[in-house]
Amino acid sequence: MNSEELFKEAQTLFPMGVNSPVRYYKPVPVIFKHGYGSKIYDVENHEYIDYSLAFGPMILGHANKTVAEKIKNQVDSGILFGSLTENEVKLGEIIRNAVGSIKMMRFTNSGTEATMHAIRLARGFTGRKLIVKMEGGYHGAHDYALIKSGSGNITFGVPSSAGVPEEVSKTVLVGQYNDIESIETLFKQYGNDIACVITEPVLGNIGVVSPKNDFLKSLREITEKYSSLLIFDEVITGFRFAFKGYQDIIGIKPDLTTMGKIIGGGAPIGLFGGREDIMEKISPSGDVYEAGTFSGNPLSTAAGIATLEILRNKDYNYINNYASMLGKALEEITSELHMDVQINVAYSMLQMFFNKTPVVDYRTAISSDANKFRRLFMELLKLGIYVPPSQFETQFISFAHTDSDLNKTVDAYTKALESIRD
Ligand code: PLP
Repeated sequence: MNSEELFKEAQTLFPMGVNSPVRYYKPVPVIFKHGYGSKIYDVENHEYIDYSLAFGPMILGHANKTVAEKIKNQVDSGILFGSLTENEVKLGEIIRNAVGSIKMMRFTNSGTEATMHAIRLARGFTGRKLIVKMEGGYHGAHDYALIKSGSGNITFGVPSSAGVPEEVSKTVLVGQYNDIESIETLFKQYGNDIACVITEPVLGNIGVVSPKNDFLKSLREITEKYSSLLIFDEVITGFRFAFKGYQDIIGIKPDLTTMGKIIGGGAPIGLFGGREDIMEKISPSGDVYEAGTFSGNPLSTAAGIATLEILRNKDYNYINNYASMLGKALEEITSELHMDVQINVAYSMLQMFFNKTPVVDYRTAISSDANKFRRLFMELLKLGIYVPPSQFETQFISFAHTDSDLNKTVDAYTKALESIRD
């Protein structure tokens, strides 16, 4: 079947033909068949340089031979036992040795599960009900995470999805990333009832936005002052900027951390972990329930071990420099074309916003011209460059991207930006 036929069939099977909403776009989303290194290929065999990397995990590029070999070996020796395995211990040790604040952990099957359990654990440990999340912070698709800020003077969040009870959103306070005063205001009023603050340390789900002015340090101080827990959601940032967490780069210790994506090397995984005294609250040692048939499964952990063992010996400057060179090139192109854009780069993550003002939080991010970005996406596609299809996602660099990819990408961006200039 060609793309059109496949998509037609898919629409009879899945709402709008997809299994996750951001994968849908008009007229027909690209349907990928395989990928090698930095390239992915659609069912018509068109080649694209991939800057989505499956929304982050594929940091080594696609079909890495060593990782594939380790997965195949595991397939040949059994893929699920429903009991503790050696792989889990190995992967757990690698992660604990690399991420300072993770003393104990539990593996889950996705980042969504990881943050859901971490939030329940924070509530169980502190005996408090309220949580604080940042507007525009994404922590997966469970009820406690699908909350946005209400309008006007409403302090509590409102559901950002139908089906999330108002009772749930009334337990979630929404603060502004990079605006510590907004957090202080919440703590002044509700501090003794706040179980935790959860935040991505670098926002990656509204495009990329870095922390400024000691925002994260102040979050650490204020949570300590009120005996609330600080949860860093490092599902994207864990092992993305260096062979450790972002927390280890900046020297801030959260109480709990969530991870996913890279630690499974492209196979389904999640993790929550942190202080021993908190983790011991998890069942069966404690009374906070958490479980999963596939949690810590042999396949995902084999892929994770193989990926992290390779990453351990990689020089992250390579991907970080690539992103900064691409960012600089994009700045030059857009300045020559007199286009109003903001280019945010954080290590090996990058996004271009069609916006006159600097993008520093959710509100500035959503003031960007998302339609223009969509036009850019379409033009880039025609030129063999695949970036995530939304203004509010992040472009990622892998170790498989080459100098020649960079040159081709800059050429393609030049043409694409010229053609969408108004
Ligand atoms: N947390 C962050 C920061 C994420 O970026 C994501 C997914 O993109 C999640 C949690 C949810 O992870 P998953 O899609 O594996 O459920």
